[in-house]
Amino acid sequence: MPPPDTLLHPYSSAIPLQPDSVFSSRFLDSVLQAIHPLSDPGTQGIRRSMLDQPRFIMAEWQMFGVVAIIIFLLFFMALIWPKLMARYTNKKIRHIVQEDLGHYHSQYDDWLCRFNPYYASLSPELKERFLHRTITFLHTKEFRFHSLSYEPYIPLLISGAAVQITFGLKNYLLDFFPVIHVIRKEYVLHMDKETYYGHVSPSGIYIAWNHFLDGYADYADAINVGLHEMAHAVSFDVFLGQCDHHDHAFRSRLEEFSEEGRPVFRAMRSGMSHLLDDYGATNFDEFWAVCVETFFEAPDTFKSQMPDLYLSIAELLNQDPLHAGHILDPELAGLA
Ligand SMILES: [Zn+2]
Repeated sequence: MPPPDTLLHPYSSAIPLQPDSVFSSRFLDSVLQAIHPLSDPGTQGIRRSMLDQPRFIMAEWQMFGVVAIIIFLLFFMALIWPKLMARYTNKKIRHIVQEDLGHYHSQYDDWLCRFNPYYASLSPELKERFLHRTITFLHTKEFRFHSLSYEPYIPLLISGAAVQITFGLKNYLLDFFPVIHVIRKEYVLHMDKETYYGHVSPSGIYIAWNHFLDGYADYADAINVGLHEMAHAVSFDVFLGQCDHHDHAFRSRLEEFSEEGRPVFRAMRSGMSHLLDDYGATNFDEFWAVCVETFFEAPDTFKSQMPDLYLSIAELLNQDPLHAGHILDPELAGLA
């Protein structure tokens, strides 16, 4: 207990006040009142009980409603809105593709027959599928031209190279790459001062147009920059694409290809001469791209010299250039 001549203020530490200093006591109370309005000793008990209760800016049921609305909006924006937008975009693209094919079908067919031997070898039914996919792919991409004027056959033929590789797969849009850059001829990158005929990076697919044309002009030399870059794009898309997921088994088939290809790749690295272009020894990504070029342009030799590796690529892409119908499993290709 404090001594009788000592006043203890409830919000202060022990402050000794003299009994005759009434002014000092009232002054202290007024100061504390200003600092905290609930410090009035007279109403302290009532106000303390008010303080003990939680204070909300709205009623509990209103807060519950607001939280429920916020949760619904988050759910809607994360899951439902993207699907609605994708459905709307797909419908719009389908309409554009139908119109485009309605107007220019014979022109597109003619260009692809002249420049793409793979397309030319397809049955009429598969040509329709190829053309439809090519025009759809074309309309989902932005083509940027560098030192080169736009010509309608350029995006068509480049889209055809992508569709060729993914022809046995359900999904073929390579959604990870919305932009394709077409450069008039080979170019030098600042990062390594090397000359490129094409490359793939998160900013897009880059293709030197003159080398693209050369690749298809000689369709037996196993050198095709269009197929090469699209092979890189497919492997990028499988692991990084968000919307256009490939079938789940594609990744495991890609790993099977890796197992089959590693010994060949190591042999190339050790300097053994090989059917595959030496550039494939640069790293395993380049090995994959070079294998794809050889698979399409020299399938006979590839199959006879490395049947297991050839078969693993055929199974991976679900197509065989030596097979009359090209596609191996119609269901996997989305045909069944
Ligand atoms: Zn490459």
